[in-house]
Amino acid sequence: MKNALLQNNIPYSVLIEDVQKMIDTNIVNNKKMKAVSLETYDYTQYHPMNEIYDWMEQIGEKNNDLVTKLYLGSTYEHRPIYYFKIGWPSEKKKKIMFMDCGFHAREWISVAFCQWFIKELVSTHNTNAILGKVLKEFDFYIVPVFNIDGYIYTWTTQRLWRKNRAPFENGTCYGVDLNRNFDAQWCTIGASRNCSSNTFCGPSAESEPETKALAGLIGRIKSDILFYLTMHSYGKMILLPYGYKDDVSKDHELMMSVATKANAKMKEKHNNEYAVGPSASVIGYYDSGSSGDWATDIGIKFSYTFELRDNGTYGFQLPADQIKPTCEETTTAIMSMVEYVHDNYLENSAVAVTAVWLNMFITILCLYYTVIH
Ligand SMILES: [Zn+2]
Repeated sequence: MKNALLQNNIPYSVLIEDVQKMIDTNIVNNKKMKAVSLETYDYTQYHPMNEIYDWMEQIGEKNNDLVTKLYLGSTYEHRPIYYFKIGWPSEKKKKIMFMDCGFHAREWISVAFCQWFIKELVSTHNTNAILGKVLKEFDFYIVPVFNIDGYIYTWTTQRLWRKNRAPFENGTCYGVDLNRNFDAQWCTIGASRNCSSNTFCGPSAESEPETKALAGLIGRIKSDILFYLTMHSYGKMILLPYGYKDDVSKDHELMMSVATKANAKMKEKHNNEYAVGPSASVIGYYDSGSSGDWATDIGIKFSYTFELRDNGTYGFQLPADQIKPTCEETTTAIMSMVEYVHDNYLENSAVAVTAVWLNMFITILCLYYTVIH
């Protein structure tokens, strides 16, 4: 075109140097704009990390009375990991329900679940009777995507990648299994010291920046954490401690009754139920260095590992049309757990505290009468 104009001595000026580039840029920008719209965010689809980052920013900004977005730490590849604190401000010390998703990169349903659950908290806190009462006593702390480098790798390169993306052996081998990297009988059983293994435990306990960040936060607030829930897939299970030994935790009976009730509630939703029990016996193999066992060992009372749908038909590649029913039934289960503990554990402790004060009052009264009379 330019040449034809020059040959015929027709004067011209260039307004846009590369029209195609402009069109392409606009398409990319439009896609980006679409991704950041909270109103149209589709919770029944899987989302790449850039869209989840946009979503995190918006959900924090638009619900800032209830939601605080906080920095957890950095991944190996220097990406920020965020968590959300969700609950009404309170004068009194609240209990914490801690939840994380996306430990294992390929378990996309886990990441979809945390986004769904946060959406439920912010959109139904006025109408949901359970949330109405528990949000006064509990703050929810939620890490929507923990293993961000790995998650991105499953979108760009290898759909079934599991570990983080730290390099070993001069960059010939990648990835630590973050759920074998915690300081709970680290690498003693059901974990590998070989980097090419999917269950590589890393060079030492908490060697990975992701693990260190999560263990650091939980360690600092552990006395307030009543629940630790870690969301995985697949297998349809609610797992209790322990994975590294056959023994059960000291709160096993209580934990079993809470999980069994949650499972029954879940079944009412889509007639789907999970296997419930100690990790080593339900899964049928041992693992060490998991976050669930570690949380139990540092004194967190209710530590559950969820293995979401399905039973292996699609495995890690659960079709998007199962996101909604999976998230609905899992939300039902978790709400049941939180409500049960709120009604029975917290109120019992409130009754216990009242009884102590009453006792003291009566004792003082008795003393007063003994001294005076
Ligand atoms: Zn997993």
